[in-house]
Amino acid sequence: MKRTLITGAAGFLGSHLCDRFIKEGHHVIAMDNLITGDMRNIEHLMPHPNFEFYHHDVTKFVHVPGELHYILHFASPASPIDYLKIPIQTLKVGAMGTHNLLGLARAKGARFIIASTSEVYGDPLVHPQTEEYWGHVNPIGPRGCYDEAKRYQEAITMAYHRYHGLETRIVRIFNTYGPRMRLNDGRVLPAFIGQALRGEDLTIFGDGSQTRSFCYVSDLVEGIYRLLLSDYPYPVNIGNPSEITIKEFAEEIIKLTGTDQKVVYKDLPQDDPKQRQPDISKAQELLDWEPKVLRDEGLRITYDYFKNLPEERLYEDSEHREFEAFSKGV
Ligand code: UDP
Repeated sequence: MKRTLITGAAGFLGSHLCDRFIKEGHHVIAMDNLITGDMRNIEHLMPHPNFEFYHHDVTKFVHVPGELHYILHFASPASPIDYLKIPIQTLKVGAMGTHNLLGLARAKGARFIIASTSEVYGDPLVHPQTEEYWGHVNPIGPRGCYDEAKRYQEAITMAYHRYHGLETRIVRIFNTYGPRMRLNDGRVLPAFIGQALRGEDLTIFGDGSQTRSFCYVSDLVEGIYRLLLSDYPYPVNIGNPSEITIKEFAEEIIKLTGTDQKVVYKDLPQDDPKQRQPDISKAQELLDWEPKVLRDEGLRITYDYFKNLPEERLYEDSEHREFEAFSKGV
């Protein structure tokens, strides 16, 4: 039986990966320090005989007894408000956490995959973004702690591959959505759905002309699984190329939820990328992968999930929503 370590296991993506690897018959060792993760995302897996959970911060030495075949490093704060609130943890998990896990992969002879991000392209000057593009990143802006942590993470992963011959994979993840996103982490989809469910106006930052391309979580997980099993050590974009402006997105959410709220406009945060769309030719060629779930369908499933949460959850982490520095830019 394959033994697989997943860090950030109680997070949005981590928990869906746990589900998938359990389904594939792996023994899953899940790790999370629960700063942004939530045990409710994995509680259904706790009784499973092939699932174990370690409450551990991977910026400290990571010890896992026994064999390991795969390590998936998905621990990181991942929303712009989180990076503003906990910038040092964000840098540490990308830098020291990745270093510890690479060391563990080497000691165990495990294959290693890291969750990189479209943020390595910054506010991109090339559109759509191909893996060859080096990016346009402000290292000292509010997103710098995340973007540079992820760029360092790619660099040290390539160094372990080249210097130590470690088997490594790098997935560059574009905006992904689905059930188990944190409602009030500031990201646009849970923000809009939460606002609609609480009967608040939807907040568009800037004039809403900035674009994003949203991928449903099951498509992303399939892409990651295929990349892990491939033999390709360089970065691969995984995302859905269907691009939309944030204004159009707000209109879709209003229609979906049937809310009679309006949109209101707030300042655009500093360094907010103006456009983002993955070029997925590499994933198509190498992994025979492309997204299958249309936004219409994915949004409906996600909305059903949020709608059925106990009402008090709509108000959790509400201090995030009042994090004024964010919308003003720091
Ligand atoms: N956004 C918005 N209203 C919100 C939250 C976000 O208009 O309440 C915008 C944000 O400025 C950005 C886009 O939606 O242009 C996507 O933001 P998100 O934080 O989800 O992810 P990003 O792709 O910026 O990392």
